[in-house]
Amino acid sequence: MSQKNSQVLTCKAVVCWGIGEAGKVEEIQVEAPKGSEVRLKMLYASVCHTDHILCTKGFPIPLFPRVLGHEGVGVVESIGEDVTSVKQGDLVIPTLMSECGECENCLCERTNMCLKYPLHFSGLMLDGTSRISVNGQMLYHAFSCSTWSEYTVVDVNYVLRLDPSTPQIPLPHASFLSCGFSTGFGAPWKEAAVEKGSSVAVIGLGAVGLGVVEGSRMRGATRIIGIDKNPRKEEKGQAFGMTDFINPLLHSDKSVSDLIKDLTAGMGVDYCFECTGLPHLISEALEATKLGKGKAIAIGLSDVTNLQISYLALLCGRTLKGSIFGGLRTKTDLPLLVEKCKNKEIQLDELLTHEVPLADINKAFQLLEQEDCVKVLIKI
Ligand SMILES: [Zn+2]
Ligand SMILES: [Zn+2]
Repeated sequence: MSQKNSQVLTCKAVVCWGIGEAGKVEEIQVEAPKGSEVRLKMLYASVCHTDHILCTKGFPIPLFPRVLGHEGVGVVESIGEDVTSVKQGDLVIPTLMSECGECENCLCERTNMCLKYPLHFSGLMLDGTSRISVNGQMLYHAFSCSTWSEYTVVDVNYVLRLDPSTPQIPLPHASFLSCGFSTGFGAPWKEAAVEKGSSVAVIGLGAVGLGVVEGSRMRGATRIIGIDKNPRKEEKGQAFGMTDFINPLLHSDKSVSDLIKDLTAGMGVDYCFECTGLPHLISEALEATKLGKGKAIAIGLSDVTNLQISYLALLCGRTLKGSIFGGLRTKTDLPLLVEKCKNKEIQLDELLTHEVPLADINKAFQLLEQEDCVKVLIKI
């Protein structure tokens, strides 16, 4: 059977028509993949906090109408004429980032921001056009993919093929690895390279923050302090290796940085990971680190465009670093993370708290508001 399929497919997808509008399930048209593209039949997708920000604020890509979703796992349905690295029927995870292995940034050890296949904000394929439409009207993609759809087209450089020769990880886990959890796990592992015996603080214990806790534990951090306003996150954090928990609502007279210093004999931590993207907490993260050598890593997305930080805290030898996808490289590092899941070194069951069918997508956003919600899985 041919791996090419030049037919336009009609299928269901979640379309967001404008800022602040609820996602609507529509019948959309998905064109055949061209050149280096593949068309995927999505099996599962999941909700990342970024999807919520894209919908409610339009940040950082105010392009509408758009098919939402950037986490998921699917099967290759057909391939473009230049594709050789995957074939029909392969199980793949779409990725936000790519790694060409040849550009200046890929050749440099310090970044995962590939220049040839960048994290793109155009909402279009690499050739500047879209493969999706609704009743003749062009739809934008979400980053390099649009996973809340029965079918989607992705450039093959933005997928990770899951090796079929060994037992697969559960499909929900594969979906969680495409953004949130991996971003968190990568931050202490690749971006910060946390040393054994370090002290770590994690602000915000969603899927990203829990990934940081797990990654820090794996790197041998001995003190892992989680900070969250939601008391139910204490138990979740402990399941991934958190050693201390701070609920700032119980200490409203003190700043988050002071609460972290109280737990570390006034010193602060070696590394503080900020997962909420809230400007005042990014500043607090920097202040919560050790004088002269502490590092604050900002990994949470919000619609913040400018930031005020304490210059004195920075001047006194601390570092503030931003990171996308936890510094993970999609071809070099992400397969290692998949292996860790396969070997049950990392258990992602704790993340999965809710599941909805694609048709109930708006319920997914409501579930995000619930205290017991960590990750919503979308069955496609
Ligand atoms: Zn590159
Ligand atoms: Zn995400």
